[in-house]
Amino acid sequence: MSSVITAPNSSMDTASPPQSRVRTTSRRRSVSSRIYLPALSVVAVAVVLLAIGLSSRWGGTSFAASITNLRVVIVGPVTVAILVLFLVIERLRPAQRRSFFARGYRQDVLYTVLNATLVVPLVVALSLSFAEVATKTFPWIVLPRFGFLPRWFVIAFIFVAMDACNWTAHLANHRVRMLWRFHELHHSQEDMSVLTVFRTHPLIHVSYLITLIPGIILVANGAVTTTLLVVYAAVVAFEHSNTNLSFGPLNRIFCSPNYHRIHHRVEGRQDVNLGFALTIWDQLSGRAVFPTKETIRIDTGLPGRPLAVEQSALRARHFSVLVAQLLGPFRPLDAPPETETDRLAVLSFDNEVRDRTGAGFDTVDSRPTTLNNRGTPRG
Ligand SMILES: [Zn+2]
Ligand SMILES: [Zn+2]
Repeated sequence: MSSVITAPNSSMDTASPPQSRVRTTSRRRSVSSRIYLPALSVVAVAVVLLAIGLSSRWGGTSFAASITNLRVVIVGPVTVAILVLFLVIERLRPAQRRSFFARGYRQDVLYTVLNATLVVPLVVALSLSFAEVATKTFPWIVLPRFGFLPRWFVIAFIFVAMDACNWTAHLANHRVRMLWRFHELHHSQEDMSVLTVFRTHPLIHVSYLITLIPGIILVANGAVTTTLLVVYAAVVAFEHSNTNLSFGPLNRIFCSPNYHRIHHRVEGRQDVNLGFALTIWDQLSGRAVFPTKETIRIDTGLPGRPLAVEQSALRARHFSVLVAQLLGPFRPLDAPPETETDRLAVLSFDNEVRDRTGAGFDTVDSRPTTLNNRGTPRG
């Protein structure tokens, strides 16, 4: 009996995995219990692209001028004026009545600042690097100039193709768990506002680089102007606004706030209404759900709050929540939903206060949550 335990024979040796493999496997398991490793591949793609872009001096394109152009689109005077107008309309025709200082609004202000400062140069660097890699690796994709094509037609074509690419990348964000890990931050907003358009993980832009392909292919025939990009950004911002608005007869063509809100709903499928500007891609793929009276005021967010959100704790803790949200894609798969830990902390604090004062405490958002979601894409 004891010999079986203390001295395994040679046949058992060959059947068992070598010690080094066991050690490597257990090391990998211990690393993956602390970090979601696939998310690092997005970081790796970004680093490789940036290194190539830097070494090629951004393909000869002026980095500073590109930053200025993108800043005009994101936070230029026209964009800011449009955002302010939408913020006013949100007060007049809200889908859900919210305080002007709601936690979600304050958190999205942080994302707006983050986008205007650090994200703009990152997106410019990634875009220039991607264009350089695409044109050097596949030079034949750049079409020659076709004199017979009117410029307005080319620009309209690029615009529509760009929207199709955005839709495709968005679908991948919902279907591929690794990408969903970066995209869920956008869906975690429970107080939607026009600023929610900025509530995105900086690295999610890696998945949207395919949007540049139509422009690269047709660069010799025309390019989308900054003005058109401002209009596009305004449409995408508008559909995130907390407004009870649609486009009337054009509702079946363009994505309205009432249409996009269904994409952000807390209950039900979120891989519907993936469109950015046009609904056609959703309609062609059977993923279009048009608004009804019941969907207009629907709650938004993620069931079970798998990611830290500013609404869940007793105090908003905007900066620590921001850090947790940005690190969110890398948390291990079996990390408990934030709600569970926060809810327990809040409950114990709540009980403590009640015991001490004999009074109730009602500052935490008490929306019902389900605790079975672990942050996986919902199909
Ligand atoms: Zn989405
Ligand atoms: Zn959205």
